This record gives sequence, C-alpha cells and structure tokens, in this order.
Amino acid sequence: VNCEELVSLLSDYIDGRLEPGPQEAAEGHLAECDRCHLVLDSTQRTILLYRLSRDVALDPHRRLVLLRRLEEHCARRSGGDPVR
Ligand SMILES: [Zn+2]
Repeated sequence: VNCEELVSLLSDYIDGRLEPGPQEAAEGHLAECDRCHLVLDSTQRTILLYRLSRDVALDPHRRLVLLRRLEEHCARRSGGDPVR
C-alpha cells in the first residue's frame, strides 16, 4: 500500500476491524514509513484523549472529584486564602 491507501485504512486499523490481508499490508507500510507511523501515533492519541474526556463528561461523580481537586490545587497556589 502507499501512504494514501494507508490513511484510508487507518481508522479501521485502529479499531481492529481490518481483514488479515489489509491488516498485514498496513503493518508492513507502518514499519517502513515514518510519516504514517507519526500519523497513526497522533491519531491514536487524539482518539484516546477524546474517549477520556467523554468518559469524564459522562461520569458526574468523577467530574466532581476532579473539580474538587482542581479547586484545592488553586486554593493552595493562591496562599490558601479562599476568595470571599
Ligand atoms: Zn506512508
């Protein structure tokens, strides 16, 4: 496969939905092509961040814990004196 073909396979590759043939072709190209390897890397990271932030948004309790922690962190930074 060439770079353009790889990009078109990329989302299925990340989701593990490729047939064994295209899967092997994609892996072969990724092993040889730095540029596509970088694209794969940053795409995977973006998807991961997106899923993480979505999970936090879907979980009110976890979001509350994170907010509380952020508030504590900010309070400590400003000398521990809460805003009145
Ligand atoms: Zn490539």
